[in-house]
Amino acid sequence: MVDFGSDYTMTINGKAVISDDHFEAFNPATEEVLAVVPDASRDQLDQAVAAAKAAFTSWSARPVAERQAMVAAIGDAIEAHAEDFMRLLTLEQGKARAGAEWEIGGSAIWCREIAKQSLPTHVAEQTENRIAETRRVPLGVVGAITPWNFPVLLAIWKIAPALVAGNTMVLKPSPFTPLCTLKLGELVRDILPPGVLNVVSGGNDLGAWMTEHPAISKISFTGSTATGRKIMASASGNLKRITLELGGNDPAIVLPDVDPKTVAKELFWAAFQNSAQFCVAAKRLYIHADIYDDLRDELVTYARTIKVGDGLDQGTDLGPIQNRMQFNKLKDLLAEAKADGIEAVLGGEALEGPGYFVPITIFDNPPEDSRVVREEAFGPVLPLLKFDDIEDVITRANDTEYGLAASVWSHDIQTARSIAERIEAGTVWINEIHSFSPHIAFGGHKQSGIGIENALDGLAEYTNVQTIFTRSTADEAESAAS
Ligand code: NAD
Repeated sequence: MVDFGSDYTMTINGKAVISDDHFEAFNPATEEVLAVVPDASRDQLDQAVAAAKAAFTSWSARPVAERQAMVAAIGDAIEAHAEDFMRLLTLEQGKARAGAEWEIGGSAIWCREIAKQSLPTHVAEQTENRIAETRRVPLGVVGAITPWNFPVLLAIWKIAPALVAGNTMVLKPSPFTPLCTLKLGELVRDILPPGVLNVVSGGNDLGAWMTEHPAISKISFTGSTATGRKIMASASGNLKRITLELGGNDPAIVLPDVDPKTVAKELFWAAFQNSAQFCVAAKRLYIHADIYDDLRDELVTYARTIKVGDGLDQGTDLGPIQNRMQFNKLKDLLAEAKADGIEAVLGGEALEGPGYFVPITIFDNPPEDSRVVREEAFGPVLPLLKFDDIEDVITRANDTEYGLAASVWSHDIQTARSIAERIEAGTVWINEIHSFSPHIAFGGHKQSGIGIENALDGLAEYTNVQTIFTRSTADEAESAAS
């Protein structure tokens, strides 16, 4: 069993490792220091990569069933420590209990379900004396870099398929949320052979060193589009494979046949789940003019029932913003909106500390070119936007560099479906939102990313294709002998 009250150490080659330098992890609800965390040196990154490289030979040679069993065992271990993980996740990330349950429960499920996947060898061509087979082979050492909004689940989305496919890994959590990931590293020391999963903590520099590292074959990254661009450039050094899951500015389109009273609660959570620190949060809510006023009022009424506070307090629905940098960005966004005379029907001003709290803020039909519409706020700031023409709303929905996800809300499934097909996004939900599955592909279009996570497409991203052509020489040998 792992002691969640103990010190935080990195995991390199199956061992606890400390470092000369350190940084602090904060509780975003109180701004108190939670822990002092190792700040990995470049040397330590080299050691982690070397350990992963050394472990690769035997790990990749194991039967896939053995790798699957160990990945499933990680899920069991997370479940066995679920209470500890949930409490620590709330402490370091800020999210309330329901959100922590979703993330930790989901992490265990993901391990078990991805552990059922494999990529069988495919016979591409076969004749009497010749066969062409396409097989999937692992890449080597994968560098995984994760953000601070779902630190555990998004790490598992990388660990599980990478390991099942036969790769080894060096994982770096966000410096804002390193604690659960370091504990996860500690947990796997008893499950995986040394070197298969190494966990190192550090700042953005450490991430940049990983993207340059000549012995890392792939970077699997979840985070902002700005960082994604840097990673793509840096990874070109040794032609690393990359999977980038990046930002979004997801539109939700609500057609006039929807009952505002019925849909308001679901739309509220579509936008504000995890205090809207969610890549696929509904970030622009396009409402048909016929129901605009009613739905706005219903949303505001429901929002007033929501308790924002310390995630550890019973009854808290939404926690704080995770870190000061993001909090300051939101403060700046709200100040600019106020200066521009954009009307907030709820909220509008960040609260004074302690804690990084931004109240639920809803803007009433701001200009389409305002920052609160154009930018991914990544905080509880939602613009409601009026439309009365379907062509117009599709154009506006697509008028963004992002293409992560979207949703359409209507009883008229045919119309909703025809809108969905024209939205430039990797996922479009109709009359629901935020359904994910280990067996359903997820990935962004445009500048929301490159590649896929989850499903066999996601597993395939941790492999190279190898084709083996075999010509049987048995007949020739026979005729030569006779
Ligand atoms: P971020 O890009 O600032 O940081 C993410 C990670 O990258 C951190 O671990 C950070 O240390 C590291 N990093 C920073 N600079 C780096 C560099 N130059 N080279 C390598 N690594 C570097 O993102 P964030 O603020 O932690 O996360 C929020 C963003 O993530 C939002 O834009 C959100 O939409 C996006 N996100 C996307 C998805 C998705 O699946 N598409 C999921 C969650 C979050």
